Amino acid sequence: MVAVFEVRGLTKTYTMGEVDVHALRGIDLDIEDGRFVVILGHSGSGKSTLLNILGGLDVPTAGRVVYRGQDLTAANDRALTAFRRHKVGFVFQFYNLIPSLTARENVDLVTEITDNPLPSSEALALMGLSDRADHFPAQMSGGEQQRVAIARAIAKRPDVLLCDEPTGALDITTGVVVLDALARVNLELRTTVAVITHNAAIAAMADRVVTLADGRMVNDQSNAVRAAFSPVSTSGSPRTPPPKRFLTTVH
Ligand code: ADP
Ligand code: MG
Repeated sequence: MVAVFEVRGLTKTYTMGEVDVHALRGIDLDIEDGRFVVILGHSGSGKSTLLNILGGLDVPTAGRVVYRGQDLTAANDRALTAFRRHKVGFVFQFYNLIPSLTARENVDLVTEITDNPLPSSEALALMGLSDRADHFPAQMSGGEQQRVAIARAIAKRPDVLLCDEPTGALDITTGVVVLDALARVNLELRTTVAVITHNAAIAAMADRVVTLADGRMVNDQSNAVRAAFSPVSTSGSPRTPPPKRFLTTVH
């Protein structure tokens, strides 16, 4: 498999007055094309720092990130901006939707500035939200809002989708529906997906689980068999309740 990211000796040190905070202490990691990678670790272990550097939102103190042969750590601002804008979709814990715009309009913010977008109707359908397209964020549940945020992130057909605790604000049942949506993006659109999470169900759905502790990679495990996920919902209607097989894996 082709490596989307080659990470070598990645180090990030924040200097806070007289104190050095070692967020990353030398990470070596390859992420192959089409993978669904989960990043686990306690709070403060460096997960967000790693994801932000992969996505070109932050720069390392030392080490390299090579994206499909392009050394991001040697890239100038313009090249890094182009990488972020065209190649990376981000999903965060809080959905950051614009309250005065409908679901469709929130997604169209991206389709209007992208060369070859996934039409908002298709992005919303993939998220099982066709019948919610004209609803405002306040009229949707947290899980639905997060799926709108994912629809927005995938509307530019990103090469990689980076998600920082996308289910962090959701209960476990709703979180599983969101994860299911991410698995669908990975399998239907073949987008490489990296997800930071504390949710055990996600780890079972990933084909690879990387664990960080104190800025180091302490475990790297491949799952031979991924937990099943539901096929794409062509009807566009949300699936409720989520499949029981996921619930049984949640502790
Ligand atoms: P995680 O996402 O695993 O909780 P982070 O990557 O956010 O961990 O943080 C790793 C370490 O780096 C923590 O000790 C955190 O306090 C520190 N850190 C993160 N961002 C900054 C920053 N902008 N300035 C100073 N310290 C930071
Ligand atoms: Mg974090």
